[in-house]
Amino acid sequence: MTYLRRMRPDQLLRPTPAGLYCESGGFYIDPTRPVDKAVITHGHSDHARPGHGSVLATRETLDLMALRYGAQFAGTTQAVRYGESLTIAGVTVSIHPAGHVLGSAQVAVAQAGLRIVASGDYKDVADPTCMPFELVPCDVFVTEATFGLPVFRHGDPDGEVAKLLRSVALFPERAHLVGAYALGKAQRVIALIRKAGYAAPIYLHGALETITRYYQSRGIALGELRPARAAQKADLAGAIVLCPPSATNELWSRRFPDPVSAFASGWMRVRARARQRGIEMPLVISDHADWDGLTATIVATGAGEVWVTHGQEDGLVRFSELNGRKARPLDLVGYGDEEEDADDTASPPSEPS
Ligand SMILES: [Zn+2]
Ligand SMILES: [Zn+2]
Repeated sequence: MTYLRRMRPDQLLRPTPAGLYCESGGFYIDPTRPVDKAVITHGHSDHARPGHGSVLATRETLDLMALRYGAQFAGTTQAVRYGESLTIAGVTVSIHPAGHVLGSAQVAVAQAGLRIVASGDYKDVADPTCMPFELVPCDVFVTEATFGLPVFRHGDPDGEVAKLLRSVALFPERAHLVGAYALGKAQRVIALIRKAGYAAPIYLHGALETITRYYQSRGIALGELRPARAAQKADLAGAIVLCPPSATNELWSRRFPDPVSAFASGWMRVRARARQRGIEMPLVISDHADWDGLTATIVATGAGEVWVTHGQEDGLVRFSELNGRKARPLDLVGYGDEEEDADDTASPPSEPS
């Protein structure tokens, strides 16, 4: 007598010290240590590390890794498109947009009627610089939890950009320095500024140039951008300048006329963080889902089981259990939070002042 017994989720995917591991497929998702086979969700440096034998990821993620680490960042690479699925040793792997940054992907793994979706980092709101999040029904949903507490509600990013533009109009003699993470946030903020109708050149700190030019090369419209280093102080009165978050406090910022310091991050919801950093204009703009986004997504996947990783795990575990789902924190280590990260190691060194 034969019958098909559904496999247990942890037979398909399980947390290990090197990251989420699919034993039958022999690959890791976003491994934090060098491994033979890696599937990588997106280009942020804690998810995308160099030194793996082979890497499967979207074209954009592979390109961003090459920009950051050099062309030899892995033994071999394979680009995979959104919606494409392939079979690795009997495991079906497919890639779906995560809406987080350019090229970001959720990874679905399926075998014997069981499907697990590892979201990587994601957001469920519109972003002119990347494909929108795709809901992938699954049995087990592995969710990030960066902003996994009810206090985190990001609100409307267009409203935050309007606040910036009102200040620019009000203080034409001052430069506005907007701190933004180099991969994703900086380009999204520029695109939102353009969407609001601001057409003047926007200036870039040297550490943001490479990735921003890459976005433009992939067809993301960002308008006229100029390197800040080439500008005269007088040209920068009334200008918007994008820079890594740490640069707003550095010597570098002194070249600008009476600068207003802004910082675009989901953490700017917490007033004390803005104050600690000496930020005059906190802009609540996040590339991670907020509490409403995380909980709505968990429910919409239809998953009976939820695994929660990197961030505020407890709130989402409790939410899932109260809503009749099995849930567990994965306790994976090695993932940071790029929105928190003042020292953007993802970028080339800051230009000299
Ligand atoms: Zn990320
Ligand atoms: Zn992350």
